[in-house]
Amino acid sequence: MEPPRRFHYRPICSAPRCEETAVYKIGAPWSDGPRRELKNYGLACPAHCEAQLARARVNRNGLKLEVGESMGDVRVFRLDPFRRDTDLESVREDAPASPPPD
Ligand SMILES: [Zn+2]
Repeated sequence: MEPPRRFHYRPICSAPRCEETAVYKIGAPWSDGPRRELKNYGLACPAHCEAQLARARVNRNGLKLEVGESMGDVRVFRLDPFRRDTDLESVREDAPASPPPD
Protein backbone atom coordinates (compact mmCIF):
# COMPACT_ATOMS: atom_id res chain seq x y z
CA MET A 1 0.00 0.00 0.00
CA GLU A 2 1.30 3.38 -0.93
CA PRO A 3 0.67 6.32 1.34
CA PRO A 4 -1.82 8.77 -0.13
CA ARG A 5 0.66 11.65 0.01
CA ARG A 6 4.03 10.94 -1.50
CA PHE A 7 6.92 13.29 -1.25
CA HIS A 8 9.17 13.52 -4.26
CA TYR A 9 12.03 14.51 -2.04
CA ARG A 10 12.64 14.93 1.63
CA PRO A 11 13.15 18.60 2.49
CA ILE A 12 16.13 19.05 4.78
CA CYS A 13 16.65 21.78 7.36
CA SER A 14 19.00 24.52 6.14
CA ALA A 15 20.76 24.94 9.48
CA PRO A 16 24.44 23.96 9.45
CA ARG A 17 25.05 20.29 10.25
CA CYS A 18 21.35 19.62 10.72
CA GLU A 19 19.88 16.72 8.78
CA GLU A 20 16.39 16.81 10.18
CA THR A 21 13.41 16.92 7.91
CA ALA A 22 12.32 20.50 7.38
CA VAL A 23 8.71 21.28 8.18
CA TYR A 24 8.93 25.05 7.86
CA LYS A 25 9.92 27.41 5.14
CA ILE A 26 11.31 30.81 6.02
CA GLY A 27 10.27 33.43 3.54
CA ALA A 28 9.16 36.96 2.89
CA PRO A 29 6.46 37.98 0.44
CA TRP A 30 8.04 39.96 -2.38
CA SER A 31 6.42 41.91 -5.17
CA ASP A 32 7.45 44.27 -7.95
CA GLY A 33 3.87 45.10 -8.85
CA PRO A 34 2.60 42.50 -11.33
CA ARG A 35 4.65 39.64 -9.92
CA ARG A 36 4.25 38.16 -6.49
CA GLU A 37 6.66 35.66 -5.02
CA LEU A 38 7.81 34.28 -1.75
CA LYS A 39 11.48 35.06 -1.33
CA ASN A 40 13.06 31.96 0.09
CA TYR A 41 15.28 32.26 3.15
CA GLY A 42 15.69 28.58 3.79
CA LEU A 43 14.05 25.58 5.35
CA ALA A 44 13.88 24.67 9.00
CA CYS A 45 13.10 21.77 11.28
CA PRO A 46 11.16 22.62 14.48
CA ALA A 47 14.39 22.91 16.49
CA HIS A 48 15.98 25.46 14.16
CA CYS A 49 12.90 27.40 13.20
CA GLU A 50 13.69 30.36 15.43
CA ALA A 51 17.38 30.49 14.57
CA GLN A 52 16.65 30.36 10.86
CA LEU A 53 14.01 33.04 11.22
CA ALA A 54 16.40 35.34 13.08
CA ARG A 55 19.07 34.82 10.43
CA ALA A 56 16.59 35.50 7.64
CA ARG A 57 15.52 38.74 9.30
CA VAL A 58 19.12 39.94 9.38
CA ASN A 59 19.51 39.09 5.69
CA ARG A 60 16.26 40.73 4.81
CA ASN A 61 17.15 43.93 6.63
CA GLY A 62 20.41 44.08 4.68
CA LEU A 63 18.61 43.76 1.38
CA LYS A 64 18.34 46.73 -0.92
CA LEU A 65 15.14 46.83 -2.93
CA GLU A 66 14.92 48.17 -6.44
CA VAL A 67 12.46 50.92 -7.25
CA GLY A 68 8.99 49.41 -7.47
CA GLU A 69 9.86 46.39 -5.38
CA SER A 70 8.28 45.76 -2.05
CA MET A 71 8.88 43.10 0.52
CA GLY A 72 6.90 42.04 3.55
CA ASP A 73 8.15 40.77 6.85
CA VAL A 74 10.02 37.52 7.07
CA ARG A 75 7.69 34.84 8.31
CA VAL A 76 7.60 31.16 9.00
CA PHE A 77 5.45 29.14 6.65
CA ARG A 78 4.31 25.58 7.01
CA LEU A 79 6.08 23.63 4.30
CA ASP A 80 3.67 21.98 1.90
CA PRO A 81 5.09 20.50 -1.30
CA PHE A 82 1.63 20.45 -2.80
CA ARG A 83 1.18 24.18 -2.58
CA ARG A 84 2.85 26.95 -4.46
CA ASP A 85 5.06 29.22 -2.37
CA THR A 86 2.61 32.08 -2.50
CA ASP A 87 -0.16 29.80 -1.18
CA LEU A 88 1.70 28.56 1.87
CA GLU A 89 0.15 29.16 5.24
CA SER A 90 2.11 31.36 7.58
CA VAL A 91 2.60 30.12 11.11
CA ARG A 92 1.50 32.33 13.95
CA GLU A 93 4.44 33.30 16.08
CA ASP A 94 4.50 33.95 19.75
CA ALA A 95 8.12 35.04 19.76
CA PRO A 96 8.60 38.19 21.85
CA ALA A 97 11.51 39.20 19.57
CA SER A 98 9.09 40.10 16.80
CA PRO A 99 6.89 43.06 17.72
CA PRO A 100 3.82 43.51 15.54
CA PRO A 101 4.17 46.15 12.80
CA ASP A 102 2.57 49.49 13.48
ZN1 LIG B 1 17.38 21.80 11.94
